[in-house]
Amino acid sequence: MTLQGARERRVATGGVELCVVELGDTARPTVVLVHGYPDSKEVWSEVAERLAGHFHVVLYDVRGHGRSTAPRPLRGGFTLEKLTDDFLAVVDAVSPDRPVHLVGHDWGSVQGWEFATVGRAEGRIASFTSMSGPSLDHFGHWINGRLRRPTPRRLAQLLGQGAKSWYVYALHTPALPELAWRGPLGRRWPRILERLEKVSGDGYPTASLPSDAAHGAWLYRDNVRARLRRPREDAYAHTPVQLITPLGDAFLSERLYDGLEHWVPRLTRRTLDARHWIPRTRPDRLAAWITEFVTSVEDGRPKRAPATGKHADRFGGQLVLVTGAGSGIGRATAYAFAAAGARVVAVDRDAASAATTAEVARLMGAPESWAETADVSDGPVMEKLAAKVAAEYGVVDVLVNNAGIGLAGSFFDTTPEDWKEVLDVNLWGVIHGCRLFGRQMAERGQGGHIVNVASAAAYQPSKALPAYSTSKAAVLMLSECLRAELAGQDIGVTAICPGFINTPITSTARFAAVDAEEQERLRKRSARWYGRRNYPAEKVADAILRAVVRGDAVVPVTPEARGTYLLARFAPRALRRLARVEPRL
Ligand code: NAP
Repeated sequence: MTLQGARERRVATGGVELCVVELGDTARPTVVLVHGYPDSKEVWSEVAERLAGHFHVVLYDVRGHGRSTAPRPLRGGFTLEKLTDDFLAVVDAVSPDRPVHLVGHDWGSVQGWEFATVGRAEGRIASFTSMSGPSLDHFGHWINGRLRRPTPRRLAQLLGQGAKSWYVYALHTPALPELAWRGPLGRRWPRILERLEKVSGDGYPTASLPSDAAHGAWLYRDNVRARLRRPREDAYAHTPVQLITPLGDAFLSERLYDGLEHWVPRLTRRTLDARHWIPRTRPDRLAAWITEFVTSVEDGRPKRAPATGKHADRFGGQLVLVTGAGSGIGRATAYAFAAAGARVVAVDRDAASAATTAEVARLMGAPESWAETADVSDGPVMEKLAAKVAAEYGVVDVLVNNAGIGLAGSFFDTTPEDWKEVLDVNLWGVIHGCRLFGRQMAERGQGGHIVNVASAAAYQPSKALPAYSTSKAAVLMLSECLRAELAGQDIGVTAICPGFINTPITSTARFAAVDAEEQERLRKRSARWYGRRNYPAEKVADAILRAVVRGDAVVPVTPEARGTYLLARFAPRALRRLARVEPRL
């Protein structure tokens, strides 16, 4: 493992020797990282590096894995009781006087649940962060509950998880898993991980993988059937738990954690749009969540009240940048992300309105919110903004390209200058955002999401909005193309298509080829009309957060936007007739 400043020691326990590695200052709180199957401690290298600046970080190879020795005989050598002995021996060695913060992934988390719920580890664990590995006891009760009271939904959950657990049955067959891992599967595993999980490189997986995987089969054989048949009745957590659930986990259904509050009185839930191997694919996010959780437990209280807004499990701590955040949909979106606990960068060309948005976001429970002034149509300005954001706040997790302007008027009334202005803001603003912030996301290689606010005008032609509709159609197509391009990098792209939304856009939109008086009259008329329709920007903001969570491609928002979207697909002729009607922006 290529970890700067790593110190190695060996801990003897129950007839085996464990290889333990330490990083960071031993005076700081200790965080113990436990790996899963088929893995060794190196699965944590990216996360450990990021935590080492804040904590005393400890990693160890589970018995029979990596550079730890294996029990003899193997059968019966991997019971949860023995794994608990190992953990306590490591804790005795690395932090004899102070409880540790435990973090487990996969089987490291399955073990972690045992440690966090058995009496003999009480007082030795200050907190537990669990990812992708349930308690076998909770799992046993989850199965029994569904068998006892089977509704169609609960049975479907059971069958769904049963299908995801195919590999568990396979690992119970004698000798075959060992042969496969020491043979072709072991050789191909790095490529399989890369293809299915997008996990790659840098000393991972290690050369010990075939024997780790062969030995680790006993984790399943020694524990799964016995525990699922007779789950402990007293498996209550004696420590605060942070549960991080990757929603794209091929092996575990998120439903497994329904009702977990029964077992865990102090539970914080987090979700991630990711697959199973998050220590490799999302180290920044994990390190941030672990740091926040451990710090809040050490301080005796959270630094701030946990966010309670919709999707707080998903967006807590994420960096979200919204353009055009000084008004309307952009401002409502910034607030919705702030309520979900995100760190928000509110960008607008108007400094004062951006500052107000950031200030209110801070009051709403997102103390790390900032205002930035930038004209999205100005390439060099956007480049400076992107560099500043990366340097001062980090890589953006969610980008909302929302800034836009309205322009109405027939094609022949629309001057080249009008066209340029609308395309510069509505299309080039989005292009600049996607290029600059999207590239940072792609280079970081840890996923992300881009939301481009288009419009129902993107697919609904109109004789009175040629420039505006063209700009939005381009945004829609750009979003679709980019979505295809970034899919391989786990970066989602969504085009949001609102209909008529009651925002101040009606007072700033321009009407081509009319004098000032007529301009004013038309603005007032459309403001009245939008006011009567009164569809709030907050609902668009809700749709934006939902779209990111679901990874939607195109989201028409209002009923009229949904209606015309259907017409565009199934009755385009009707839509063309509608295009001849005089609209109101
Ligand atoms: P809004 O209330 O006018 O808000 C837009 C914000 O973006 C304003 O603060 C505006 O500042 C800012 N902005 C405009 N040009 C900018 C630029 N070049 N650089 C940085 N900031 C800029 O409008 P909205 O209704 O919320 O619209 C937001 C987005 O939704 C737009 O893309 C719009 O096309 C789209 N949309 C709106 C509706 C609707 O019915 N409202 C429907 C479909 C789509 P200024 O006030 O200084 O211009």
